[in-house]
Amino acid sequence: MNYFRQKIHEMSGYVPGEQPPLGTKIIKLNSNENPYPPSPQALKVLQEIDGEILRRYPEPTGKQFRIAASQVLGVPDDWIVVGNGSDDLLNLIVRAVGETGKQVVCPCPTYVLYRTLAEIQDVEFVEIPYPDDYQLPVDLLIAAQGAVTFVASPNSPSGTAIPLADLEQLARGLSGILVIDEAYVDFAENHALELTKTYNNVIVLRTLSKGYSLAGLRLGFGITNPALIAELNKIKDSYNVDALAYLVAAEAIADQTYKTANAEKIKASRQKLALSLQELGFDIWPSQTNFLLVRPPQGDAERIYQRLKQEGILIRYFNQPRLADKLRITVGTEAQNQILVKTLNEI
Ligand code: PMP
Repeated sequence: MNYFRQKIHEMSGYVPGEQPPLGTKIIKLNSNENPYPPSPQALKVLQEIDGEILRRYPEPTGKQFRIAASQVLGVPDDWIVVGNGSDDLLNLIVRAVGETGKQVVCPCPTYVLYRTLAEIQDVEFVEIPYPDDYQLPVDLLIAAQGAVTFVASPNSPSGTAIPLADLEQLARGLSGILVIDEAYVDFAENHALELTKTYNNVIVLRTLSKGYSLAGLRLGFGITNPALIAELNKIKDSYNVDALAYLVAAEAIADQTYKTANAEKIKASRQKLALSLQELGFDIWPSQTNFLLVRPPQGDAERIYQRLKQEGILIRYFNQPRLADKLRITVGTEAQNQILVKTLNEI
């Protein structure tokens, strides 16, 4: 029985991290969620909801959110496109090029969804391996000339930063689209927004899921020139983001003070956690995100993942080439990190 396209039948699909029901007593360090609650200013909006907002369809392009975001980012609001999480925008971009004979190119290991989206569209996926120090392989990426090149900056699951000069060289050398996925930018030292002004082929993606503690809201956005945005708007779902998400997101992005304070706490905790894990003998990649890629001393990553799970601590284990001896750990609150280190010490 195969009613769908052969490709769909054959592919394994993206497998997200485990998402146990709310209220389950676990320490959840597996999906790079922010351990702190969303901005109180943003939550207040939900308490004051007027039913009229839900009776009507939302404004299709999220104008209210785009205006709030444009003030924070210093880009015009018609340079912003909104998605149901940045995953929605990644999907739109791959659908926009989706045609046999074209290629999606990524430095790998990186966010696995890029591959899945290419598979869904039947677009060839080309992996350019990162070296072990995660320097961006700029020349090889330029040589590949993908219809779309995705670079997560900072990268996941390595957490490593990418110098702006490398991204600029890539933007200049590619004739196709360069997507700079800045999901973790709120914990990083650099960003690439300026490149959108100079290079028509650059799309920068951001999300409210990490820095703004709103992974459940599902709101991501892209920054690029209005000509590309007009094309993406043609193929997006008419009402891809719901009216409540727009309202909450507009307040959240306006509350930069709150977001920055949490990011600073997480960056300080990241450093402390990295030191504690190093003392336990783990190798650590330098992170500019809210997580750490680590290699346990005895290379027994899967066992450690399973043992922590038994103890009620979820982290991420990727059973795939180059990652099977490593673990990705989201930086939690100080208390959560201490329990993690103590438990690791015991096991
Ligand atoms: N890009 C990267 C690199 C990510 O790690 C994630 C989160 N899994 C996303 C995009 C998607 O984020 P969102 O919640 O906005 O869909």
